[in-house]
Amino acid sequence: MSQHTKCLIIGTGPAGYTAAIYASRAALSPIVIEGPQPGGQLITTTEVENFPGYVDGVQGPKLMEDLRAQALRFGATIVPGFVSKADFGGKVKKVTLASGEEFTADAVIICTGAAARYLGLPDEQKYMGLGVSACATCDGFFYRGRTVAVVGGGDTACEEALYLSNLARKVYLIVRKDYLRASKVMQQRVREKENIEILFSTVTMGLFGEEVLEGAHLAAHKGTDNENFYDIAIDGFFLAIGHQPNTEVFLNAVELDENGYIKVAHPSTATNVAGVFAAGDVADPHYQQAISAAGMGCRAALDAERYLMEQA
Ligand code: NDP
Repeated sequence: MSQHTKCLIIGTGPAGYTAAIYASRAALSPIVIEGPQPGGQLITTTEVENFPGYVDGVQGPKLMEDLRAQALRFGATIVPGFVSKADFGGKVKKVTLASGEEFTADAVIICTGAAARYLGLPDEQKYMGLGVSACATCDGFFYRGRTVAVVGGGDTACEEALYLSNLARKVYLIVRKDYLRASKVMQQRVREKENIEILFSTVTMGLFGEEVLEGAHLAAHKGTDNENFYDIAIDGFFLAIGHQPNTEVFLNAVELDENGYIKVAHPSTATNVAGVFAAGDVADPHYQQAISAAGMGCRAALDAERYLMEQA
């Protein structure tokens, strides 16, 4: 037995809930599949100070609770479950949950988000929210006048290091290779900043601190004759080693780019499959902000509504 809806929304981050608010208000009676981390990445954040409308900031979980309540208020149906199969081949789209439950829809909006990559050190979990972060724009403000480290050598790492260098007293950029992968212009900006110190050929072995993060154990030139183990004192440890879009289940269902993000026909949120739209971090490797995801969720709901009107 499968349940049919005009509009199926997969994912409940800011994009999914915003799409649900707009689709409900357009009388599309959306069904929203709430994945394994209801509320998305903001559930693991503490204070969010850059979401417009919250003058004094808001806790990440509270923000998501508010968005969820707003979606429910207009009649969205939220169903918990993990999508294990997506078949977008026909005019009617079919999605199956791991529980075996099946949904069919005239239009689908994919908002499954992305997850920040971590190094996989047990200490990262230990100091999560106590010095460890994967988002400088979200948490950098708390490190004004302090010393922080950013891990990574790509554009994100350089961007995060530059952002933090305007707030923090000192920024270490920990790069595992002996060069930066980032674009030349970003490399130059980082090199020109006096308070950024680049630690090339260096990996993080562990973190330490009594209650909150106080430092990192590093290894330079590990495995060579010049191997050197040492510690640095830091208050913040920012991961910038890339994001992984949550698109595994859509691999053969919609077109993805070389990094696994869903390709959309900008400025529309349409994928290469008619009736399937994507919004938020799953389709946006560039901005990756709650507010930009919410904005894209709005656009996806409007795109889906227009598509359904054209089909009627
Ligand atoms: P990238 O994949 O480009 O870079 C990831 C960085 O993390 C690399 O330096 C990589 O090292 C390093 N890394 C990966 N795993 C580990 C690990 N286990 N330990 C230590 N270091 C690790 O990701 P980004 O998020 O930086 O960028 C993603 C895309 O978005 C890129 O195409 C980028 O150009 C784009 N972007 C553009 C921006 C802009 O134009 N302003 C801003 C931000 C992103 P290694 O080099 O050794 O593989």
